Amino acid sequence: MIDFSFTKEQELLRDNIAKFATKELAPKYNHWDRNSEFPYQQVEKMAKLGLMGVYIPEEYGGNPLDDITIGLVMEEIARGDFNCVLPIMISILGAELLCKFGTEEQKREWLPPMASAEKLFALGCTEPDAGSDLAHLKTKAVRDGDDFVLNGEKNSVSMSNADNFFIMARSKFDDPAARGISIFMVPRDAQGVSVSDYRDLGCRAIPRGAVAMEDVRIPRSNMIGEEGRGFQMVISWMDLNRIYIALKCVSVAMLTLRETMEHAKNRQTFGKPLARFEGISFPLAEAETQLEAARWLCYRGLWLRQRGLPYTKEAAMVKWWGPKISTEVIHKCLLLHGHYGYSDKFPIEQRLRDVMGWQIGDGTGEVQKIIIARESMGREYLPY
Ligand SMILES: Cc1cc2nc3c(=O)[nH]c(=O)nc-3n(C[C@H](O)[C@H](O)[C@H](O)COP(=O)(O)OP(=O)(O)OC[C@H]3O[C@@H](n4cnc5c(N)ncnc54)[C@H](O)[C@@H]3O)c2cc1C
Repeated sequence: MIDFSFTKEQELLRDNIAKFATKELAPKYNHWDRNSEFPYQQVEKMAKLGLMGVYIPEEYGGNPLDDITIGLVMEEIARGDFNCVLPIMISILGAELLCKFGTEEQKREWLPPMASAEKLFALGCTEPDAGSDLAHLKTKAVRDGDDFVLNGEKNSVSMSNADNFFIMARSKFDDPAARGISIFMVPRDAQGVSVSDYRDLGCRAIPRGAVAMEDVRIPRSNMIGEEGRGFQMVISWMDLNRIYIALKCVSVAMLTLRETMEHAKNRQTFGKPLARFEGISFPLAEAETQLEAARWLCYRGLWLRQRGLPYTKEAAMVKWWGPKISTEVIHKCLLLHGHYGYSDKFPIEQRLRDVMGWQIGDGTGEVQKIIIARESMGREYLPY
């Protein structure tokens, strides 16, 4: 039986989050961008609503929701402030890793401050010589008694202002690819850690930068899960994250499309509203079709995951397609606003810059197509 509706509880939660996002997040969306400032107060407010603990069990201070309901939350937060979705995504990563693979001590230490946003976390995978080909990362974690000593550089860490970094590092050296990688929690204040930030085109509210580690000594108890299993642990979270990335992009593109439709109904040229010209209304109709289709493919992926069914292919599909069409739709909407759209009096230019980055972040379109081809045709048809 197919059912495309959400429950009453989900609708109610969505309405409440929408009100919160409109009142508390949207007014400052541009402010953080202009000043390249992280929205600490907004994240604290999200934590008070339980949004930083949507994957964390109650006993560790969380407020767990199911995957589909979280999708609705992501959409509404993105409509208020696109960049405020990222801290929630990272808390889901933390909860996935720690709840599934962490020890009781690790859960008690890191989950409560994650849920309350008292401490911020970030993920370090990408390196100067390993992005798409993450299995060949070079950061090393060498065992020394009860400690590990880390050396290397992560060079694209979103939320580089975090207090703690989940770091992927090679700790087993007999296997040069994915099976030698483990995950470590590296505190920002550990000796030998240094952070430097980039100046990005978009998502300026979320500092992104390099985390260099020089002889960083951390206790063995900071390794999460089984040694050598880190790659699989992070990759399985990425499937879920890719759907949420697509949803946040599609949601903000839909908002922009609605605003542009209103603009097209009101703005007159040559004695008629813009919307009366098919050169205007047809691209808007095409955009709506594509965004609707992408959105429902996201929810299909979440539906599959919620039932414990494979959804890697659907996640890869929406990850390449969702941010791409969202970027294209927002670009089109910007042009349909004429010179107003090009200025920062409207949020469209910022949305364009913000959304575009997620065609790259968490795996580019090309990498997603490799995954889809692998899932559909078999591993033997991969180029390597
Ligand atoms: C907004 C944003 C946020 C990010 N946040 C984080 C974060 O929090 N933590 C983190 O670790 N990283 C993060 N990243 C990094 C991101 O995950 C990587 O940039 C991404 O995986 C691509 O790696 P790369 O930049 O090294 O590109 P490369 O791997 O060097 O690829 C360069 C180009 O070649 C293409 N390409 C590569 N291999 C193939 C192939 N086999 N066939 C066809 N085309 C190919 C790619 O698609 C890309 O277009 C973020 C990036 C952005 C933009």
